[in-house]
Amino acid sequence: MSDLGTTGATVNTAKSTNVTGAVAYSEPAIVFDRVSVAYGRGKNVTNALVDFNLRVAQGETVALLGPSGSGKSTALKALAGFARPTSGSVKLGGRDVTDLPPAKRGIGVVVQSYALFPHMRVSENVAFGLKANKVPRSQIAGRVADALAMVGMSAYGKRLPRELSGGQQQRVAIARALAIRPKVLLLDEPLAALDAALRQSMLAELQLLRKALPDTAMLYVTHDQSEALALADRIVVMRDARLVDVDTAANLWQRPPTSFTAAFLGGANLIPCTVGRVIGTSALITVADSTLNAEAPQPEVGKIDWAPASPALLCVRPHAITVGSVSDKGALRATVTASVWRGSSTRLTLAVDGLPDLLVQADVPGNAQYELDAVVGVKLPEPAGVLVQTPGGTQ
Ligand code: ADP
Ligand code: MG
Repeated sequence: MSDLGTTGATVNTAKSTNVTGAVAYSEPAIVFDRVSVAYGRGKNVTNALVDFNLRVAQGETVALLGPSGSGKSTALKALAGFARPTSGSVKLGGRDVTDLPPAKRGIGVVVQSYALFPHMRVSENVAFGLKANKVPRSQIAGRVADALAMVGMSAYGKRLPRELSGGQQQRVAIARALAIRPKVLLLDEPLAALDAALRQSMLAELQLLRKALPDTAMLYVTHDQSEALALADRIVVMRDARLVDVDTAANLWQRPPTSFTAAFLGGANLIPCTVGRVIGTSALITVADSTLNAEAPQPEVGKIDWAPASPALLCVRPHAITVGSVSDKGALRATVTASVWRGSSTRLTLAVDGLPDLLVQADVPGNAQYELDAVVGVKLPEPAGVLVQTPGGTQ
């Protein structure tokens, strides 16, 4: 992957032609440069986006993941031109578009509510953006047919939106966005209105669509971590109008840089511990009087230091914990405070002796029948988990 740091100078803005004749862009497809957006004014001001920096390469898919109200849609709107930055700038393919009207930005946008025109037939809906973009009339029918074919909706061109299911309407909305052949496609919770089964099949279709559009940069807004993990090359975790973390899905999952990301991505347990000896990426830690091995991610220079005797959080995912008898070797004594069967697993909530103010979540296979207040033995994996800095630490 190319260097997607936020500090890179933009020296070479020229297009270059490589040996195969294809045009290569040296600029990222999308740049947010210290973008802030505020709604309202005076006492009623909401800072919806604060100092947001991001670069997305051509062909890359980045998910903006965060709870409701964290500024995800605002970031998309700033790029599409529907929200005006109070400061900072947005660039597409190296060109500053901060002051350009939305229709001139050449971006495809898909939103949760489909936003199809109810009185227009499917093919007219898809053609709408082409006409607005002044595509020659002779090309419109062909472009509409191509876009509908991409989403498997070729047979539905004559229908009205109300004659389609929710999933089909969303496909049409995607076709409409694709018809203008955008270099940048923005999707804002496109699956949120669909039921669970349909969401799964649409997710698989979106993966295929990504493969079919290798040069299109996508920014995908969701509050659902499984969508972000399934689709994104990189994930931006957002909280309270700010970017918290950005990295590949695998890195964020395996070595969450912050406790917020650890908890939001995968609902990890964050167990207070004390760091002992650290050798390389391996640490001895103390959890409730037990000494365990944990992974200590390499500190970034000046950012994290796993100093001996310092407090840290041990990130352990619920499925990695095993629950057995309290007499099992190395088991921590715990009491079951809740047990919820979820089909393929049971989610246990556990009060662990020596860990006050914390309830540990464990997923055990099948329909495990535990009485409330049952005393069990909790075993952490080996290594026990990965260390995460305590919030308010030196970050
Ligand atoms: P998300 O998409 O992550 O749920 P949004 O970007 O929609 O979050 O909203 C971020 C914040 O900005 C929220 O506090 C929201 O209430 C506020 N907000 C969004 N749109 C407007 C608006 N048009 N006027 C006032 N406040 C808004
Ligand atoms: Mg939103």
